[in-house]
Amino acid sequence: MNFASPSTAIPSDSPEARNYNRIRRWVGLADFGAGLLLLLVLLATGWTGTLRDLALNMSSHSYTLGVFFYVAMLLLLGKLVGIGLDYYSFRVERRFQLSNQRFRSWLWDQAKGFLLGLVLASIIVELLYFVIRQFPQTWWLITWAAFLLLFVLLAQLAPVILFPIFYKFEPLDNEDLKARLVKLSEKAGTQVRGVYRWKLSEKSKKANAALTGLGNTRRIILADTLLDNYSPEEIEAVLAHELGHHVHRHIFKGIAVQAATTLLGFWVANFALHYVLDHWHIFETLADFANLPLLALTSTLLSFLALPALNAFSRFNERQADRYAFRSISSIGPFISAMNKLAEQNLAERVPSKWVEWFFHSHPAIARRIESAEQWAAARPVHA
Ligand SMILES: [Zn+2]
Repeated sequence: MNFASPSTAIPSDSPEARNYNRIRRWVGLADFGAGLLLLLVLLATGWTGTLRDLALNMSSHSYTLGVFFYVAMLLLLGKLVGIGLDYYSFRVERRFQLSNQRFRSWLWDQAKGFLLGLVLASIIVELLYFVIRQFPQTWWLITWAAFLLLFVLLAQLAPVILFPIFYKFEPLDNEDLKARLVKLSEKAGTQVRGVYRWKLSEKSKKANAALTGLGNTRRIILADTLLDNYSPEEIEAVLAHELGHHVHRHIFKGIAVQAATTLLGFWVANFALHYVLDHWHIFETLADFANLPLLALTSTLLSFLALPALNAFSRFNERQADRYAFRSISSIGPFISAMNKLAEQNLAERVPSKWVEWFFHSHPAIARRIESAEQWAAARPVHA
Protein backbone atom coordinates (compact mmCIF):
# COMPACT_ATOMS: atom_id res chain seq x y z
CA MET A 1 0.00 0.00 0.00
CA ASN A 2 1.36 3.37 -0.92
CA PHE A 3 0.91 6.12 1.65
CA ALA A 4 3.02 8.60 -0.32
CA SER A 5 0.01 9.40 -2.47
CA PRO A 6 -2.92 8.85 -0.15
CA SER A 7 -6.45 8.55 -1.41
CA THR A 8 -8.43 11.77 -1.60
CA ALA A 9 -10.94 10.27 0.86
CA ILE A 10 -8.32 10.23 3.64
CA PRO A 11 -7.63 13.56 5.37
CA SER A 12 -4.19 13.84 6.99
CA ASP A 13 -3.67 13.58 10.74
CA SER A 14 -3.72 16.72 12.85
CA PRO A 15 -0.74 17.53 15.11
CA GLU A 16 -3.23 17.20 17.96
CA ALA A 17 -4.04 13.59 17.03
CA ARG A 18 -0.34 12.76 16.71
CA ASN A 19 0.42 14.34 20.07
CA TYR A 20 -2.49 12.61 21.83
CA ASN A 21 -1.54 9.17 20.54
CA ARG A 22 2.13 9.71 21.35
CA ILE A 23 1.24 10.61 24.95
CA ARG A 24 -1.02 7.56 25.26
CA ARG A 25 1.69 5.22 24.03
CA TRP A 26 4.23 6.61 26.50
CA VAL A 27 1.75 6.40 29.36
CA GLY A 28 1.07 2.77 28.42
CA LEU A 29 4.77 1.94 28.33
CA ALA A 30 5.44 3.79 31.60
CA ASP A 31 2.59 1.88 33.25
CA PHE A 32 4.01 -1.40 32.01
CA GLY A 33 7.53 -0.43 33.19
CA ALA A 34 6.31 0.61 36.64
CA GLY A 35 4.51 -2.73 37.12
CA LEU A 36 7.57 -4.63 36.00
CA LEU A 37 9.81 -2.64 38.34
CA LEU A 38 7.53 -3.33 41.31
CA LEU A 39 7.69 -7.10 40.68
CA LEU A 40 11.48 -7.00 40.22
CA VAL A 41 12.01 -5.00 43.42
CA LEU A 42 9.79 -7.38 45.43
CA LEU A 43 11.82 -10.34 44.19
CA ALA A 44 15.30 -8.82 44.35
CA THR A 45 14.94 -7.39 47.86
CA GLY A 46 13.12 -10.40 49.28
CA TRP A 47 10.27 -8.08 50.35
CA THR A 48 7.88 -10.59 48.82
CA GLY A 49 8.87 -12.91 51.70
CA THR A 50 8.18 -10.16 54.24
CA LEU A 51 4.78 -9.60 52.62
CA ARG A 52 4.06 -13.36 52.76
CA ASP A 53 4.95 -13.48 56.50
CA LEU A 54 2.75 -10.46 57.14
CA ALA A 55 -0.15 -12.09 55.26
CA LEU A 56 0.27 -15.33 57.23
CA ASN A 57 0.36 -13.43 60.53
CA MET A 58 -2.80 -11.52 59.59
CA SER A 59 -4.55 -14.79 58.80
CA SER A 60 -3.34 -16.62 61.95
CA HIS A 61 -1.36 -18.89 59.63
CA SER A 62 -4.31 -20.06 57.55
CA TYR A 63 -2.80 -20.72 54.10
CA THR A 64 -5.94 -19.92 52.09
CA LEU A 65 -6.65 -16.67 53.95
CA GLY A 66 -2.96 -15.84 53.78
CA VAL A 67 -3.07 -16.10 49.96
CA PHE A 68 -6.00 -13.69 49.95
CA PHE A 69 -4.22 -11.12 52.14
CA TYR A 70 -1.06 -11.46 50.07
CA VAL A 71 -2.99 -10.85 46.81
CA ALA A 72 -4.78 -7.87 48.38
CA MET A 73 -1.49 -6.29 49.50
CA LEU A 74 0.17 -6.95 46.14
CA LEU A 75 -2.73 -5.34 44.25
CA LEU A 76 -2.72 -2.41 46.66
CA LEU A 77 0.99 -1.88 46.06
CA GLY A 78 0.39 -2.09 42.31
CA LYS A 79 -2.40 0.51 42.57
CA LEU A 80 -0.19 2.85 44.64
CA VAL A 81 2.55 2.59 42.03
CA GLY A 82 0.14 3.10 39.11
CA ILE A 83 -2.43 5.58 40.43
CA GLY A 84 -0.39 8.62 39.38
CA LEU A 85 -0.31 7.45 35.76
CA ASP A 86 -4.01 6.51 35.91
CA TYR A 87 -4.83 10.03 37.05
CA TYR A 88 -2.58 11.48 34.37
CA SER A 89 -4.45 9.43 31.70
CA PHE A 90 -7.73 10.79 33.03
CA ARG A 91 -6.38 14.33 32.76
CA VAL A 92 -5.10 13.69 29.22
CA GLU A 93 -8.55 12.52 28.05
CA ARG A 94 -10.05 15.70 29.53
CA ARG A 95 -7.33 17.93 28.09
CA PHE A 96 -7.98 16.62 24.56
CA GLN A 97 -11.72 16.97 25.17
CA LEU A 98 -12.34 13.26 24.68
CA SER A 99 -13.83 12.74 28.10
CA ASN A 100 -16.56 14.49 30.05
CA GLN A 101 -16.20 12.31 33.11
CA ARG A 102 -16.09 14.11 36.44
CA PHE A 103 -13.30 13.43 38.94
CA ARG A 104 -15.69 11.79 41.44
CA SER A 105 -17.09 9.47 38.82
CA TRP A 106 -13.53 8.59 37.75
CA LEU A 107 -12.55 7.90 41.38
CA TRP A 108 -15.62 5.70 41.82
CA ASP A 109 -14.66 3.76 38.66
CA GLN A 110 -11.15 3.29 40.08
CA ALA A 111 -12.59 1.91 43.33
CA LYS A 112 -14.95 -0.45 41.48
CA GLY A 113 -12.15 -1.55 39.16
CA PHE A 114 -9.88 -2.27 42.10
CA LEU A 115 -12.52 -4.33 43.92
CA LEU A 116 -13.39 -6.25 40.76
CA GLY A 117 -9.68 -6.90 40.18
CA LEU A 118 -9.34 -8.11 43.76
CA VAL A 119 -12.27 -10.53 43.43
CA LEU A 120 -11.03 -11.96 40.10
CA ALA A 121 -7.37 -12.11 41.17
CA SER A 122 -8.28 -13.83 44.47
CA ILE A 123 -10.27 -16.51 42.66
CA ILE A 124 -7.46 -17.07 40.15
CA VAL A 125 -4.59 -17.11 42.67
CA GLU A 126 -6.43 -19.29 45.25
CA LEU A 127 -7.15 -21.76 42.46
CA LEU A 128 -3.53 -21.60 41.31
CA TYR A 129 -1.96 -22.40 44.70
CA PHE A 130 -4.61 -24.99 45.52
CA VAL A 131 -3.63 -26.87 42.38
CA ILE A 132 0.12 -26.35 43.00
CA ARG A 133 -0.28 -27.90 46.45
CA GLN A 134 -2.33 -30.86 45.24
CA PHE A 135 -0.44 -31.58 42.00
CA PRO A 136 3.13 -30.21 42.23
CA GLN A 137 4.21 -32.07 39.08
CA THR A 138 1.37 -31.27 36.68
CA TRP A 139 0.02 -28.07 38.25
CA TRP A 140 0.75 -25.97 35.16
CA LEU A 141 -1.30 -28.22 32.88
CA ILE A 142 -4.23 -28.53 35.29
CA THR A 143 -4.28 -24.80 36.06
CA TRP A 144 -4.18 -24.08 32.34
CA ALA A 145 -7.30 -26.22 31.78
CA ALA A 146 -9.06 -24.61 34.76
CA PHE A 147 -8.15 -21.09 33.57
CA LEU A 148 -9.51 -21.88 30.14
CA LEU A 149 -12.87 -22.84 31.62
CA LEU A 150 -12.83 -19.70 33.78
CA PHE A 151 -11.97 -17.59 30.75
CA VAL A 152 -14.87 -18.99 28.71
CA LEU A 153 -17.20 -18.42 31.66
CA LEU A 154 -16.01 -14.82 32.02
CA ALA A 155 -16.42 -14.18 28.29
CA GLN A 156 -20.00 -15.36 28.61
CA LEU A 157 -20.75 -13.39 31.78
CA ALA A 158 -18.94 -10.17 30.84
CA PRO A 159 -21.79 -8.48 28.92
CA VAL A 160 -24.36 -9.22 31.66
CA ILE A 161 -22.24 -8.91 34.82
CA LEU A 162 -18.90 -7.13 34.27
CA PHE A 163 -19.66 -4.35 31.73
CA PRO A 164 -22.81 -3.13 33.58
CA ILE A 165 -20.61 -2.36 36.62
CA PHE A 166 -19.19 0.56 34.62
CA TYR A 167 -21.80 1.38 31.94
CA LYS A 168 -25.54 1.23 31.37
CA PHE A 169 -26.94 -0.82 28.49
CA GLU A 170 -30.43 -0.96 27.04
CA PRO A 171 -31.89 -2.92 24.14
CA LEU A 172 -31.82 -0.87 20.93
CA ASP A 173 -35.23 0.69 20.31
CA ASN A 174 -34.59 2.05 16.80
CA GLU A 175 -36.93 0.07 14.53
CA ASP A 176 -35.21 1.14 11.30
CA LEU A 177 -31.82 -0.08 12.56
CA LYS A 178 -33.30 -3.29 13.90
CA ALA A 179 -34.85 -4.01 10.51
CA ARG A 180 -31.49 -3.34 8.82
CA LEU A 181 -29.75 -5.76 11.18
CA VAL A 182 -32.36 -8.48 10.61
CA LYS A 183 -31.85 -8.09 6.87
CA LEU A 184 -28.07 -8.27 7.23
CA SER A 185 -28.35 -11.33 9.50
CA GLU A 186 -30.71 -13.11 7.13
CA LYS A 187 -28.26 -12.53 4.30
CA ALA A 188 -25.58 -14.09 6.49
CA GLY A 189 -27.83 -17.00 7.50
CA THR A 190 -27.14 -16.26 11.14
CA GLN A 191 -28.58 -14.36 14.04
CA VAL A 192 -27.20 -12.27 16.84
CA ARG A 193 -29.43 -12.34 19.87
CA GLY A 194 -29.47 -8.67 20.60
CA VAL A 195 -28.26 -5.20 19.83
CA TYR A 196 -27.74 -2.90 22.78
CA ARG A 197 -27.38 0.83 23.21
CA TRP A 198 -24.25 1.39 25.27
CA LYS A 199 -24.42 4.63 27.28
CA LEU A 200 -20.83 5.66 26.71
CA SER A 201 -21.68 9.38 26.54
CA GLU A 202 -21.88 9.60 30.34
CA LYS A 203 -18.10 9.26 30.45
CA SER A 204 -16.58 9.70 27.01
CA LYS A 205 -17.01 11.58 23.77
CA LYS A 206 -15.43 8.76 21.79
CA ALA A 207 -17.53 6.36 19.70
CA ASN A 208 -17.23 2.59 19.75
CA ALA A 209 -18.98 -0.65 18.87
CA ALA A 210 -18.26 -4.29 19.63
CA LEU A 211 -19.41 -7.88 19.42
CA THR A 212 -19.39 -9.38 22.91
CA GLY A 213 -20.43 -12.47 24.85
CA LEU A 214 -20.73 -16.16 24.12
CA GLY A 215 -23.76 -18.36 23.45
CA ASN A 216 -26.92 -16.77 24.81
CA THR A 217 -25.12 -13.58 25.86
CA ARG A 218 -23.73 -12.94 22.34
CA ARG A 219 -24.67 -9.39 21.38
CA ILE A 220 -23.62 -6.32 19.44
CA ILE A 221 -23.15 -3.20 21.54
CA LEU A 222 -23.27 0.24 19.91
CA ALA A 223 -22.20 3.37 21.80
CA ASP A 224 -24.84 6.09 22.03
CA THR A 225 -22.09 8.49 20.87
CA LEU A 226 -22.22 6.56 17.59
CA LEU A 227 -25.98 5.97 17.39
CA ASP A 228 -26.77 9.67 17.91
CA ASN A 229 -24.26 11.14 15.47
CA TYR A 230 -24.02 8.76 12.51
CA SER A 231 -26.41 8.27 9.61
CA PRO A 232 -28.45 5.02 9.46
CA GLU A 233 -26.26 3.88 6.52
CA GLU A 234 -23.08 4.54 8.50
CA ILE A 235 -24.41 2.64 11.51
CA GLU A 236 -25.42 -0.18 9.19
CA ALA A 237 -21.82 -0.36 7.93
CA VAL A 238 -20.58 -0.62 11.53
CA LEU A 239 -23.21 -3.30 12.28
CA ALA A 240 -22.13 -5.23 9.19
CA HIS A 241 -18.52 -5.16 10.41
CA GLU A 242 -19.53 -6.50 13.85
CA LEU A 243 -21.68 -9.15 12.18
CA GLY A 244 -18.55 -10.10 10.21
CA HIS A 245 -16.81 -10.90 13.50
CA HIS A 246 -19.77 -13.11 14.42
CA VAL A 247 -19.94 -14.90 11.06
CA HIS A 248 -16.18 -15.59 11.07
CA ARG A 249 -16.36 -16.87 14.68
CA HIS A 250 -13.68 -14.44 15.84
CA ILE A 251 -14.50 -14.67 19.55
CA PHE A 252 -14.10 -18.45 19.43
CA LYS A 253 -10.87 -18.17 17.44
CA GLY A 254 -9.60 -15.54 19.87
CA ILE A 255 -10.19 -17.90 22.79
CA ALA A 256 -8.37 -20.70 20.94
CA VAL A 257 -5.34 -18.46 20.31
CA GLN A 258 -5.47 -17.30 23.93
CA ALA A 259 -5.51 -20.95 25.04
CA ALA A 260 -2.40 -21.78 23.01
CA THR A 261 -0.46 -18.73 24.29
CA THR A 262 -1.51 -19.39 27.87
CA LEU A 263 -0.36 -23.01 27.64
CA LEU A 264 3.06 -21.83 26.48
CA GLY A 265 3.00 -19.25 29.30
CA PHE A 266 2.30 -21.87 31.96
CA TRP A 267 5.03 -24.12 30.64
CA VAL A 268 7.56 -21.26 30.83
CA ALA A 269 6.26 -20.25 34.29
CA ASN A 270 6.79 -23.79 35.57
CA PHE A 271 10.30 -23.77 34.18
CA ALA A 272 11.09 -20.37 35.73
CA LEU A 273 9.67 -21.42 39.11
CA HIS A 274 11.78 -24.59 39.24
CA TYR A 275 14.87 -22.78 38.04
CA VAL A 276 14.62 -20.11 40.76
CA LEU A 277 13.80 -22.74 43.44
CA ASP A 278 16.89 -24.78 42.53
CA HIS A 279 19.38 -21.99 41.93
CA TRP A 280 18.45 -18.89 43.90
CA HIS A 281 16.85 -20.32 47.06
CA ILE A 282 14.66 -17.27 47.64
CA PHE A 283 11.52 -19.38 48.02
CA GLU A 284 11.14 -22.42 50.22
CA THR A 285 8.76 -24.52 48.13
CA LEU A 286 6.71 -24.45 44.96
CA ALA A 287 3.63 -23.76 47.10
CA ASP A 288 5.30 -20.77 48.81
CA PHE A 289 3.04 -18.00 47.51
CA ALA A 290 5.83 -15.47 47.91
CA ASN A 291 6.80 -16.68 44.41
CA LEU A 292 3.66 -15.06 42.95
CA PRO A 293 5.62 -11.99 41.69
CA LEU A 294 7.84 -14.36 39.71
CA LEU A 295 4.78 -15.92 38.03
CA ALA A 296 3.35 -12.45 37.39
CA LEU A 297 6.69 -11.27 35.99
CA THR A 298 6.88 -14.25 33.62
CA SER A 299 3.35 -13.75 32.32
CA THR A 300 3.78 -9.96 31.98
CA LEU A 301 6.99 -10.35 29.97
CA LEU A 302 5.53 -13.09 27.78
CA SER A 303 2.36 -11.08 27.09
CA PHE A 304 4.52 -8.13 26.08
CA LEU A 305 6.59 -10.26 23.72
CA ALA A 306 3.46 -11.86 22.28
CA LEU A 307 1.75 -8.49 21.74
CA PRO A 308 2.88 -7.95 18.12
CA ALA A 309 1.77 -11.47 17.15
CA LEU A 310 -1.58 -11.16 18.94
CA ASN A 311 -2.15 -7.74 17.38
CA ALA A 312 -1.30 -9.11 13.92
CA PHE A 313 -3.89 -11.85 14.47
CA SER A 314 -6.42 -9.23 15.58
CA ARG A 315 -5.72 -7.02 12.53
CA PHE A 316 -6.20 -10.09 10.30
CA ASN A 317 -9.64 -10.63 11.88
CA GLU A 318 -10.51 -6.96 11.53
CA ARG A 319 -9.68 -7.02 7.82
CA GLN A 320 -11.87 -10.10 7.44
CA ALA A 321 -14.77 -8.35 9.24
CA ASP A 322 -14.26 -5.29 7.01
CA ARG A 323 -14.42 -7.40 3.83
CA TYR A 324 -17.58 -8.99 5.17
CA ALA A 325 -19.03 -5.51 5.65
CA PHE A 326 -18.06 -4.45 2.07
CA ARG A 327 -19.95 -7.45 0.71
CA SER A 328 -23.03 -6.87 2.86
CA ILE A 329 -23.73 -3.17 2.40
CA SER A 330 -25.03 -1.67 -0.83
CA SER A 331 -22.28 0.95 -1.16
CA ILE A 332 -18.95 1.51 0.58
CA GLY A 333 -19.47 5.29 0.83
CA PRO A 334 -21.04 5.11 4.32
CA PHE A 335 -18.27 2.75 5.50
CA ILE A 336 -15.63 5.28 4.46
CA SER A 337 -17.44 8.25 5.99
CA ALA A 338 -18.02 6.27 9.21
CA MET A 339 -14.27 5.49 9.38
CA ASN A 340 -13.39 9.15 8.91
CA LYS A 341 -15.91 10.22 11.54
CA LEU A 342 -14.52 7.66 13.98
CA ALA A 343 -10.97 8.88 13.40
CA GLU A 344 -12.09 12.49 13.95
CA GLN A 345 -14.17 11.75 17.03
CA ASN A 346 -11.65 9.43 18.72
CA LEU A 347 -8.63 11.51 17.70
CA ALA A 348 -7.17 8.37 16.09
CA GLU A 349 -4.14 8.47 13.84
CA ARG A 350 -5.25 7.55 10.34
CA VAL A 351 -1.65 6.96 9.28
CA PRO A 352 0.45 5.86 12.27
CA SER A 353 4.10 5.03 11.71
CA LYS A 354 4.69 1.47 10.55
CA TRP A 355 6.29 0.16 13.75
CA VAL A 356 3.59 1.77 15.91
CA GLU A 357 0.90 -0.01 13.90
CA TRP A 358 2.87 -3.28 14.00
CA PHE A 359 3.39 -3.23 17.75
CA PHE A 360 0.41 -1.41 19.28
CA HIS A 361 -2.58 -1.53 16.96
CA SER A 362 -5.24 -4.21 17.27
CA HIS A 363 -6.98 -2.66 14.23
CA PRO A 364 -5.48 -1.81 10.84
CA ALA A 365 -4.78 1.91 10.46
CA ILE A 366 -7.89 3.76 9.31
CA ALA A 367 -6.12 4.89 6.12
CA ARG A 368 -5.54 1.23 5.24
CA ARG A 369 -9.13 0.30 5.98
CA ILE A 370 -10.41 3.09 3.73
CA GLU A 371 -8.01 2.14 0.95
CA SER A 372 -9.12 -1.50 1.17
CA ALA A 373 -12.72 -0.35 0.83
CA GLU A 374 -11.87 1.72 -2.24
CA GLN A 375 -9.90 -1.13 -3.80
CA TRP A 376 -12.76 -3.52 -3.13
CA ALA A 377 -15.25 -1.16 -4.78
CA ALA A 378 -12.91 -0.51 -7.73
CA ALA A 379 -12.64 -4.23 -8.38
CA ARG A 380 -16.43 -4.58 -8.37
CA PRO A 381 -17.89 -1.49 -9.97
CA VAL A 382 -21.41 -2.93 -10.05
CA HIS A 383 -22.79 -4.19 -6.77
CA ALA A 384 -24.51 -7.57 -7.16
ZN1 LIG B 1 -13.87 -5.10 14.58
